[in-house]
Amino acid sequence: MKYFLEVYFEPIRHYIHVKGMIHNSVSNKFYLNENFTILNATSKCEKIAFHMNKEQPHPAFDKVSRPIIFDTENNEIEFEYEGTVPEIIADINQIDENIIELSSYSGWYPKPANFEVDFDFELNIKLPKGYEVVSNGKIVDYEHIISVQKETDIALFASNEVERYEYDESNVKCTFLCPSEMIEQLEQRAKDIIQANKIFVETFGNLDMKSGVTEIVSVFRPRGGWGYKRGNVTFLSAELGKKEKQYKYDYHELAHGWWKIANVTTDDWINEGGAEFSAYVAAKHIYGAPYAQKYISNCIEEITKSNDNVSIVDTDYQSQQRYLNHYIKPTIMHINAQKIFGDKRVFDLLKKVFTKYQNTQNATTYDFLSLCDDDMRIYYEKYLFANDWHQLNYTI
Ligand SMILES: [Zn+2]
Repeated sequence: MKYFLEVYFEPIRHYIHVKGMIHNSVSNKFYLNENFTILNATSKCEKIAFHMNKEQPHPAFDKVSRPIIFDTENNEIEFEYEGTVPEIIADINQIDENIIELSSYSGWYPKPANFEVDFDFELNIKLPKGYEVVSNGKIVDYEHIISVQKETDIALFASNEVERYEYDESNVKCTFLCPSEMIEQLEQRAKDIIQANKIFVETFGNLDMKSGVTEIVSVFRPRGGWGYKRGNVTFLSAELGKKEKQYKYDYHELAHGWWKIANVTTDDWINEGGAEFSAYVAAKHIYGAPYAQKYISNCIEEITKSNDNVSIVDTDYQSQQRYLNHYIKPTIMHINAQKIFGDKRVFDLLKKVFTKYQNTQNATTYDFLSLCDDDMRIYYEKYLFANDWHQLNYTI
């Protein structure tokens, strides 16, 4: 599925106007902010009927969206709508005079009924002059045309109260949007990210240059509210950002430059476990052993208190246990393997897996196991297939 959206903002009026098209839509039911008015809808140049059901219960993922049904069997839908976002939604999303921050919480684009559906998008944004813009899409040119592949959300931040700070070295580009008083502290953050990159290159090998420069983007909105992540972009408040001294989450995103070699299915533990373990390795190097030990203790606590009954390899993308089974447990599994087999053998194995699948990006659990020596295969099989980790020994 693909979205083409032409978005016009009038920040002072909190107003948004969108002309859009959905290609290869997955259904004729979408969710949109109840405050918006659909002006028209067509499919293959024919007018189609539509209605928004304002009485329907809220979908689980946000409080403001209501279902709209487009009366068509076709999978190409064109539409135009407008409306205002007068309040701050979910503590973060808003359209204000100086800050525009939109993502799934505000229902600002028609979202598929199934939140997990991924899509590509292209945005053409019109803003008053002087706004810096960031999205989880790629900014193709500075007139704000943005496209991206396989996302489950369209996140967009624009403000005339932030500055852009960029730091570029060793094929890593760090981009920050923040209030000007924060700029001083960003050089250290960028340098730490570049150092993590050096560790990853030394450990797993150079990235194939076809994948280009890795970019880490962080937005520090000049007000409060919580943080979230979409793709390689982190959206945080300046208050939170000022307090932050350790950047393991940035290292995790950076490590996906290497760890995107498996499908986002039950095999996603190879990606997420690889990225999280890599971030741990970098953080241990940069912040020292006490930091690493604390991280391990927190992970083990998570595992210990879980009601564990699904194995890592039986966990899929939509599972409630995804974070535990595809991030935390595989990381502990690799750290424990370091203890048993030594750092070098674990790093060599991961390098072999990365090197073999970096271009095809279709590594499976069985491929991973087939690259292990016998003793390591027995070890990894045990941890990957265990339904109950409480029976396992991983006192690190
Ligand atoms: Zn990740």
